[in-house]
Amino acid sequence: MPDSFDCIVVGGGGAGLAAAYSAACQGATVALLERRPQPGGTTGIAVGSFTAAGTRWQRRAGINDNPVDHEEDVSLFADAELEARNNQPLRRFFLEHAAETLHWLQEELRLNYVGPNPEPPNRCPRMHNVVPGAKAYVVRFQLALRRLGVTIITGAAVTRLLQENGRISGVKVSQGGNYYQLRARRGVLLATGDYANNPEMIARYKGEEYRDIEGINPHALGLGHQLAEQVGASLVNMDITYGPELRLLPGSRRPFQQWLPASGIASRCMGWLAERMPGWMINRFIKRLLVTWQHPEDALFQDGSILLNTRGQRFVNELSWPEREIAVARQPDKISYLLLDGRLCEQYSHWPKFISTAPDIAYAYVEDYLRLRPDVTLRSTQLESICKRRGLDHCVLKSTLEEFNRHVRDGTVDSFGRPAAEFPLDTGPWVLLGPVKAYFTTTEGGAAINQRFQVLDQQSRAIPGLFAAGQAGLGGMVLWSHGLHIAWAMTSGRLAGIELAAES
Ligand SMILES: Cc1cc2nc3c(=O)[nH]c(=O)nc-3n(C[C@H](O)[C@H](O)[C@H](O)COP(=O)(O)OP(=O)(O)OC[C@H]3O[C@@H](n4cnc5c(N)ncnc54)[C@H](O)[C@@H]3O)c2cc1C
Repeated sequence: MPDSFDCIVVGGGGAGLAAAYSAACQGATVALLERRPQPGGTTGIAVGSFTAAGTRWQRRAGINDNPVDHEEDVSLFADAELEARNNQPLRRFFLEHAAETLHWLQEELRLNYVGPNPEPPNRCPRMHNVVPGAKAYVVRFQLALRRLGVTIITGAAVTRLLQENGRISGVKVSQGGNYYQLRARRGVLLATGDYANNPEMIARYKGEEYRDIEGINPHALGLGHQLAEQVGASLVNMDITYGPELRLLPGSRRPFQQWLPASGIASRCMGWLAERMPGWMINRFIKRLLVTWQHPEDALFQDGSILLNTRGQRFVNELSWPEREIAVARQPDKISYLLLDGRLCEQYSHWPKFISTAPDIAYAYVEDYLRLRPDVTLRSTQLESICKRRGLDHCVLKSTLEEFNRHVRDGTVDSFGRPAAEFPLDTGPWVLLGPVKAYFTTTEGGAAINQRFQVLDQQSRAIPGLFAAGQAGLGGMVLWSHGLHIAWAMTSGRLAGIELAAES
């Protein structure tokens, strides 16, 4: 293997794969370094939705849309305080290039999408879902990179950026207990993902109280943020996170969409079929994704559900966010359970109440969870039987319920500060959902960048030879709607690859 390349891409998730591909298409020699045994990152476990305006799928559906309207609508997702921290010029630049990235993915990688689907307050449907799921990005890019002769090195973690005369000139790599250096003639791109599962970074930037909350992707360690910081990069919006949210623990089996073919004729047939599937069939498909990843709705607590730890005790005012998530992360094994009585089960068995949703696309009810996630859903007329099967102490749970119901009867605030619920929890059949854990989905802080994807220092000057894309190069944007993170990973990767290859 050569020890120098035109471009070095650090991280083989969506942004890194897209960047390596587009840099190689410009004729550059490229090395892609991935610290895990396989490329993928958070991109590989995502749903795969890509939100963009002015796409050919929208036009086909008779929707006349544009990035200016999209930008206005995106600004309505976050609350005003958060939105005020958005890097507006960069987000506008991103949204202007999102649709062409989606077309590029279809044309270059033959990826198929269904949609567009609505997500208010977007004024029209903009969410496109890749078939069969985000794994398709990873599989197709890898095949394309091999064809282009890109050197993909897995199990290789970049531990330091090399700097000569102020310019980033290469990387130090750790692989299988050995260290070596690789030189980059044009530049190094950090596409290393987020830091959702780095307790030190979470505590430092967001607050000590969040330290115990994990990231959904256990490998999201913020290593690229640290590399950038070591050479003087400015990191922005580091305290902003997507979550914490309560999510059911994933099953021990691989999620079903990971089994579906993501390349070859079988996948192309699936894409063709997906575009022609009747609505009810798509709904069933999406429901499976919903019960794998989506979080239980907050409305469950507003309507009277409670959280129990493994002893059968309540431990927090379930109505208060993020105190609820912080408290869950402090329980034994960091887990807890949601309890629904017969009244809640009935309520959450049909519209307008649902356990989880991909808004306006599909809704999952109690029966869906019993059928599709029996590993985290128990139903019985006997509380005792549920307790036995999950190892909860039945006597403790009985007194927990007596205490909760006493406050309901008396109309008093309980010792956790929760106002009396409207109804007691006292009728079967009981449903226990869980274990749930508190998770960060992603973190939203990244290196400051300009529109050439160059990383900026504390004085907003470009650090020569250093580029960033995806979550590592979020540049202070607030991307609060579904489908914008993958859209950014792919768009920033595609454009950064071109910049990197053009660097002299
Ligand atoms: C469950 C889930 C579902 C999601 N679904 C969606 C969705 O449908 N749509 C959407 O828009 N967003 C979604 N997101 C968010 C989105 O998937 C991510 O924000 C996005 O994919 C990040 O892409 P990335 O390339 O920046 O990082 P990643 O995909 O995480 O890739 C980073 C890669 O860099 C590697 N790496 C890190 N450090 C080093 C190092 N020092 N040396 C070498 N390699 C390194 C990592 O191992 C990893 O492979 C979802 C997130 C989760 C958790």
